Amino acid sequence: QAKSRGKNTFDFYAPELTQSVRARLTMEGDLRAALDTNQFLLHYQPIVSLNGAGVQGLEALVRWQHPVRGLVPPDEFIPVAEDSGLIHEIGDWVIDAACAQLAQWDARGLSHLTLAINLSPVQFRRDGLVSRIARRLRQHSIASERLHLEITESLLMEQNRHVAETLQTLDAMGIGLCIDDFGTGYSALNYLRHFPIRQLKVDRSFVEDMLHAEDTRALVRAIVLMAHALRLEVVAEGVEEKSQLELLREMGCDQVQGYLLSRPLPAAEIPGWIESQRLRIVS
Ligand code: C2E
Ligand code: MG
Ligand code: MG
Ligand code: MG
Repeated sequence: QAKSRGKNTFDFYAPELTQSVRARLTMEGDLRAALDTNQFLLHYQPIVSLNGAGVQGLEALVRWQHPVRGLVPPDEFIPVAEDSGLIHEIGDWVIDAACAQLAQWDARGLSHLTLAINLSPVQFRRDGLVSRIARRLRQHSIASERLHLEITESLLMEQNRHVAETLQTLDAMGIGLCIDDFGTGYSALNYLRHFPIRQLKVDRSFVEDMLHAEDTRALVRAIVLMAHALRLEVVAEGVEEKSQLELLREMGCDQVQGYLLSRPLPAAEIPGWIESQRLRIVS
């Protein structure tokens, strides 16, 4: 169809293209400046056990405090950071900030918490990820067991020897590897046997559809059973309603995370939130 417009095609599309290219370049420049002037911050969302153990840990979620646009969510800038390579520096900042925060909470007596951080597949393609993580843990005196890394199914599907070795090393260090958004990728279940995965995080879309769609409910139930057969833990993401939590508990899901429990919170609000939960543990 575009071809039939012949000569005019370029004129017709060019302004739009130019605009999106320009927007992207602007964002790249802004991200660069954001790194230099410390505009990133982490919010933390509690992950709560369904077997009475209370708050198990937190997930660190990056935000960008943009001078003009305000608080920008990660889905709007992580893809640009990945394409431009800036994800390496942003990712290193996240690792450092997360470990520093764990150390701060330790000092306040919250030394039982685990902290999960999200890693982009791009970060695995550069050498030295393991040593950079190890250095940060050492620097902040954090035991590696306290750190969880959330990775995507697509990373495992790459069949990349370097990635496989990196994951083996991280696991051997005691770091817990979790598959994020489980069920949305290829879900070639065979891969679960070949990688040292500890936890599956069932994607929010399943939790959302589960109450209304019987097939989705059957899928979640099957994921929990399969995960447990492989000795993996299951975390349900995006739990917003009590009825979802009850169904997940009945299915044997291990942990839940979602707005029903808490939104992602600034670091300063975490000790208070945990204290307020101590007496009303979901069990
Ligand atoms: P994710 O890792 O799957 O994180 C869960 C997302 O769901 C978060 O969005 C969280 O705020 C949101 N969420 C949690 N509970 C609920 C709920 O009950 N209902 C709904 N509707 N949403 C809920 P957020 O913070 O905007 O992050 C989006 C994605 O950005 C993350 O998805 C993750 O893939 C990526 N991301 C976040 N932080 C980082 C980071 O430090 N590095 C990298 N590479 N990616 C990150
Ligand atoms: Mg995640
Ligand atoms: Mg997720
Ligand atoms: Mg996600």
